[in-house]
Amino acid sequence: MRKTELKINLSNLNHNIDVIKKFTNADIQAVVKANSYGLSASEVAKTIDDQVESFSVITLGEAIELRKYTNKPILLLQGVHENKDYEVIQDQNFDFVIHSSWQLEKIKNYDLSMTRLWLKINTGMNRLGIDLHEFEETLKIISRVDTKDKILMSHLAASSIKDDPQTTKQVKLFNEVTKNIEYKKSLANSGAIFNFPEAHNDIVRPGIAIYGGKYNEFGTKNVSSLSSEIISIRPVKSGTKVGYDGSWLAEHDCFIGSIPIGYGDGLPYSIDPVTVRINGKNFKTAGKVNMDLLMINLEQDDTIKIGDTVQIWGFDSDISKLSDEFNTITYNLLANISGRVSKNYLE
Ligand SMILES: *Cc1c(COP(=O)(O)O)cnc(C)c1O
Repeated sequence: MRKTELKINLSNLNHNIDVIKKFTNADIQAVVKANSYGLSASEVAKTIDDQVESFSVITLGEAIELRKYTNKPILLLQGVHENKDYEVIQDQNFDFVIHSSWQLEKIKNYDLSMTRLWLKINTGMNRLGIDLHEFEETLKIISRVDTKDKILMSHLAASSIKDDPQTTKQVKLFNEVTKNIEYKKSLANSGAIFNFPEAHNDIVRPGIAIYGGKYNEFGTKNVSSLSSEIISIRPVKSGTKVGYDGSWLAEHDCFIGSIPIGYGDGLPYSIDPVTVRINGKNFKTAGKVNMDLLMINLEQDDTIKIGDTVQIWGFDSDISKLSDEFNTITYNLLANISGRVSKNYLE
């Protein structure tokens, strides 16, 4: 069997929620979109169900699947994508976002009395959310929609940067315009939990922090470990070209190891060397990421054998550094891991 695997340490999820709870008294909505950033929404939901107020996803399909594993509220972060989606929301009592006025046009036709409506306000990210000039009017309209609860929300554009002026402005604006409204409020994603306490409000919405893909400096632990194994080793002479397009050139005599992982497994395509770990020692990849393989410059190390484990990242890794080498972000590293990689869950 191909030994390319993603290990997921479920108890690190509990640990990370505990860390988040040290930073905020707000209720926690676990963002489990994109199959929990690649780690499996069902496994994550089963593990942290007791510790959170609710979950959130993007698609109806994700929400329907998740319902098998939790009785907590499940929020559709983009609401309906077409009006008839309200039928499913009505049947399954999903929470839903209203981010644009078109999503209110047909809402009267449905019985949403067991759901929660989350009104999303654009506070400066300019992606989704009703603009402030429509806020009063939209509030009036939603007040006439019969739901179990209403919640005001917005999303921050740069919460990962402490004291970021645009984010500071967004937080102030959100708190100001929602101040005298009785509805519950939700603004903070992971970054804001650590960097903007004034953004916490009633419900925080962490994603990446639960998975330990960022903010390890605050005590979160990486939940996943991605590894493969050496399936081929060959000596090459100085001056030898390696891989597609001969893009890598041996500058010295060395060993080249090949491992069965590539962009078909969700690794980002890269032409630059990235760091991997073998038997506790760092090595660099040699040449481009292929669809199914990756080559590694083993230098002159003749102790490495067929079958040795190659760690792309481990539970003790800060994957921000690796994502920099791949010219991407940690969200992308995690969420891209494909179904071809076997996933193994540790309690
Ligand atoms: C994805 C998402 C989050 C979670 O963001 P993280 O940075 O992963 O914590 C929170 N809120 C909304 C609206 C999102 O789309």
